[in-house]
Amino acid sequence: MDLLKQRIQTDGLILNNSLLKVDSFLNQQIDPELMMKIGEEFVNRFKGEHITKILTIESSGIAASVMTGLILHVPVIFARKTKPKVTSDDVYIAKVYSYTKGESNDIIVSRQFLQEGDSVLIIDDFLANGEAAAGLANIVEQANAKVVGIGIVIEKSFQPGAQKLTDAGYRVESLARIKSFSNGQVNFL
Ligand code: 5GP
Repeated sequence: MDLLKQRIQTDGLILNNSLLKVDSFLNQQIDPELMMKIGEEFVNRFKGEHITKILTIESSGIAASVMTGLILHVPVIFARKTKPKVTSDDVYIAKVYSYTKGESNDIIVSRQFLQEGDSVLIIDDFLANGEAAAGLANIVEQANAKVVGIGIVIEKSFQPGAQKLTDAGYRVESLARIKSFSNGQVNFL
């Protein structure tokens, strides 16, 4: 998606040669028009698929997911990273290891929002080692629902996540695929 790649080139900041900061349009300040275009692109990529729900993870996957859900007229669910006091105990839980934080955390979805028979599109902002997306897929499968595919805004293709998810049989559609970082520049595949 050229518009997204241009935005990464102009606004992205590379940290430690492995992390991309895109706080000005995705991770803190959000550009709603770009998010809508991202939603349209996801809908286009998964055209012809039967999708009943979108599942993402708080907080940076929510904006792109809501735009996609708006176009498809389907609900958007976000997995929580902490269990709120008002959530019932009736939840699906998956463990997700964060390489950036060096620790495992639970992600949590109330059982009432995912049912057997649902066809779920998973969306997230970044794909690195594939832990977050695999955790979301695990939750869909706990509900005996189907993973239609995984939509990613920015894939860091030099990390193993995309290959791992593809090998596990999931369809992965990434809107920007980064081959490498070099001299402060982002190189796309
Ligand atoms: P994974 O689980 O695939 O290793 O990492 C994906 C998750 O880690 C995403 O949900 C995202 O929040 C975070 N993440 C991984 N790499 C980056 C990055 O380069 N920049 C930002 N902003 N987040 C990242």
